[in-house]
Amino acid sequence: MKIGIIGGTFDPIHNGHIYIAGKAMEEFSLSKVLFMPTGVSYMKTDVSNAKDRYEMVRLALKDYPNFEISDLEVFRGGYTYTCETIAELKKIYPDDKLYFIIGTDTLFMMEKWKNYDYIFQNVTIIVADRAGENESDQKDKADYLKKQFGAKIKFLKAKKYNLSATLLRAGFKIKSPAYKIKQDCPDSVVRYAEENHLYDSSPMKESEILELLRLDLKPKRITHTLGVVEMAAKLAEIHSCDIKKARTAALLHDCAKYLSTQEKADLCREYHFPVSDLEMSNPELLHAKAGAALASKKYGIEDEEIMDAIYYHTTGKPDMSLLTMIIFISDYIEPGRTHSPKLNDFRAMAEEDLNKCAGNILEETCLYLESRPNNKIKAIDPTTKEAYEYYKIYI
Ligand code: FE
Ligand code: FE
Repeated sequence: MKIGIIGGTFDPIHNGHIYIAGKAMEEFSLSKVLFMPTGVSYMKTDVSNAKDRYEMVRLALKDYPNFEISDLEVFRGGYTYTCETIAELKKIYPDDKLYFIIGTDTLFMMEKWKNYDYIFQNVTIIVADRAGENESDQKDKADYLKKQFGAKIKFLKAKKYNLSATLLRAGFKIKSPAYKIKQDCPDSVVRYAEENHLYDSSPMKESEILELLRLDLKPKRITHTLGVVEMAAKLAEIHSCDIKKARTAALLHDCAKYLSTQEKADLCREYHFPVSDLEMSNPELLHAKAGAALASKKYGIEDEEIMDAIYYHTTGKPDMSLLTMIIFISDYIEPGRTHSPKLNDFRAMAEEDLNKCAGNILEETCLYLESRPNNKIKAIDPTTKEAYEYYKIYI
């Protein structure tokens, strides 16, 4: 018999895993595939408990007669080493050929595994290309492992099915039905995870927020966002502000950037945020307020200081809190910005004196808006003007 083995944290198991197993079975004429949830992994912390992950895999495989669940690793105490698992499998299946199904990322790490030469001698590796990494890199690595250790490595021609477990977990955390993303998990798994609150009992992590943002923001905007996170974290550290809050506010500051004008206006109405005629005719201005609402509604942010920082990130306001000031400034001077010749001065100033930096940015903003063609003076948000009046004494 040829037996496939697919290991993973399965936190949660999703349709990508099932697809890869089926494809491997077809391509290499496997008799069955064992799904093996990992136990305590020394590489990943903060993983759902073994019983829940095991149960989700069990539920997911119910309809597949040739897929079996294996508990060899999941309930084993201490660290899990693949070489030990393989030794055990060889006792259970002494006359069968074992095929180990891995992702390309794993191919590049196998040499760091305990007793990797034992692994290479006793199983055939099937590399499933899930992410579409650089193919020649994989081939080179495989050739090297074959030559060096006699590894048997085959590639699985699977269409790209690159689901991110991080994104799936984030999906479970969105409370508002308006933003529920389609879960790429079997229905029984979705039900189990929801009923047992596996993922929605803790706030979203930064990595999860980022995965969700990638669905809504253009790559250019993500790059800008990460620049603001970097700058905000740096300024928060220098000026003794809460770094975690600064990072979260920075990450979400432009979350509503690409919503339609109507969606932005609806969000503001729902949160009783005032919307002026000026904002309705310049919907670009509205993304900050709508962003504060979306941060709460979709991303579960309850901290009013964070919402305030998002709300005022484009206009600023008089007497900003430290956090709001840091986000306002970071948005203007993050490392990817090139829009003003004074940026380097502002960056140095921000480290020394936030009030002075805010005053200078507000001055430049007002001058820029006033000097625009057709003299669109009216397009300056009154809050920006008020903020400038407040901070100009610091210049
Ligand atoms: Fe913005
Ligand atoms: Fe921005």
